[in-house]
Amino acid sequence: MTFEQGDWRVRAACRDENPDRLFVRGAEQRQARVVCFGCPVRTECLAEALDKRIEFGVWGGMTERERRALLRRRPDVRDWRALLEAARRDSTEPNEYQNTYRAS
Ligand code: SF4
Repeated sequence: MTFEQGDWRVRAACRDENPDRLFVRGAEQRQARVVCFGCPVRTECLAEALDKRIEFGVWGGMTERERRALLRRRPDVRDWRALLEAARRDSTEPNEYQNTYRAS
């Protein structure tokens, strides 16, 4: 599987959702992110949020608090897209991304 290039948003599971549903505050984000769990572009979405340091809303199935925690744990990562792409290529073995993602 290749990393989705171009405009991955057209395949987003939330494409037809009311944006207000994902851009909620606090504990409501944990419920809102359920729509992400079956999203075919979840990884692309998460990479964009992490690389651009997007602070608000649910992206890639992670709340803003979870993303902040991940960024604090991995200050060494400068290119999340590259890291996640590599993880996807090597998805048959446990890797850094999967371990990091599970820990959140
Ligand atoms: S991962 Fe979630 S927020 Fe991102 S595109 Fe998919 S459904 Fe939307």
